[in-house]
Amino acid sequence: MTSSARLVIVGPQGSGKGTQGARIAELLRIPAVSTGDVFRANIAEGTPLGEQVKAITAAGDLVSDELTGQIVRDRLSQDDAARGFLLDGYPRNLHQVGDLDTFLNGRGEQLDAVIELSVPRDESMARLALRATAQGRTDDTEEGIAKRLSIYESETAPILDVYRERGIVDSIDGVGTLDEITERIVAALTARGITRPAAV
Ligand code: ADP
Repeated sequence: MTSSARLVIVGPQGSGKGTQGARIAELLRIPAVSTGDVFRANIAEGTPLGEQVKAITAAGDLVSDELTGQIVRDRLSQDDAARGFLLDGYPRNLHQVGDLDTFLNGRGEQLDAVIELSVPRDESMARLALRATAQGRTDDTEEGIAKRLSIYESETAPILDVYRERGIVDSIDGVGTLDEITERIVAALTARGITRPAAV
């Protein structure tokens, strides 16, 4: 039996969702799809998409739902995402939840689990300050961080209520060592029957 693993990881900036998302995707042998990474790669390469989103992401604003949705649909249509995927940074508002539902329903698919990573505000702010120094992200200014956190609270956190009603949210304590947090997520997914596929 091959179970599907169609996952979303949600958490505030500094919650570690990018790091944990990549680990979980590797363990489950599914692609991790980070919209933020796609935008950053395009900006670094100077592609037309990069030029289009550069100022928006630098200011900490959201790229349009249409453009972001198109990028996600294109990526999820590739062969390696047929059995599953882990979305990081998408959906980010209720409109994007609807867009993703429409796309998945059209393929006779649905999300299997939504991982919510919870961290107290002080902890995420401290981690972001470190990341700003370590990675030099242009949107990790004090102003940019504050704006993204406030958009997270007003637009992204509400998507969890929708998914909670579907009974697919696993809330994970995001404070601990990297391995501890990965283990918590793996345990929650295992309880849903989502496990690493047998090697082929
Ligand atoms: P963070 O979670 O720290 O804000 P991300 O890497 O997820 O970082 O996103 C970086 C930026 O990319 C966002 O501030 C936004 O401008 C853009 N972005 C990423 N995902 C989306 C999305 N789903 N919808 C709109 N904009 C997005």
